[in-house]
Amino acid sequence: MLNIVIFGAPGSGKGTQSDNLIKTYNLFHISTGDVLRDNIKRGTELGATAKAYIDKGQLIPDDLMIGILADVLDSNKEAAAQGVIFDGFPRTIAQAEALETMLQERGTSVSTVIGLEVPEEELIERIILRGKQTGRTDDNMETVKNRLAVYHNQTSPLQAFYKEKGLYQAIKGTGKIEEIFDDIRRAVDAVK
Ligand code: AMP
Repeated sequence: MLNIVIFGAPGSGKGTQSDNLIKTYNLFHISTGDVLRDNIKRGTELGATAKAYIDKGQLIPDDLMIGILADVLDSNKEAAAQGVIFDGFPRTIAQAEALETMLQERGTSVSTVIGLEVPEEELIERIILRGKQTGRTDDNMETVKNRLAVYHNQTSPLQAFYKEKGLYQAIKGTGKIEEIFDDIRRAVDAVK
């Protein structure tokens, strides 16, 4: 199995490059942000809980998020047989440790972590533009500041976590989308 964690700050291009990865490799895509937004749209109880955190730019509590991920994995065993693109998960050390255990229990592991690196000014520009284009409610200046602070405090320590395991591959996340993807493909092929 090829299990890819696509990692980076909000606005770094994880969703866009996940779409490219899906087209190139036969992998199952899990975007935890999409799972939550879908629950909000369908008006589920989980959606109502998630919305309160998302609108403030905060993370959904680890226990809840880890449970959701396990459910998604278990309900898509066949689709995920070749491997999974984890997009937006893990976002904390606790989630990364839980992911390790979950994959171990399923006889597999993280193959590589693709870290999209983009300067902060460009992240903000991209997120504000996406908010205007898509109407995504957490893509506004106020929430963005919180999301970036959360990224620095809770998520960026994962770089060191995965570097220590020899799994982190840094990718320059600026420039042309296709050129960024060429770099990603080379990084993925190196571990295939
Ligand atoms: P994203 O679409 O990945 O940018 O996620 C949008 C929002 O969903 C985040 O700002 C969080 O509030 C929430 N979220 C998504 N993934 C996670 C996660 N792995 N852990 C906690 N919260 C998450």
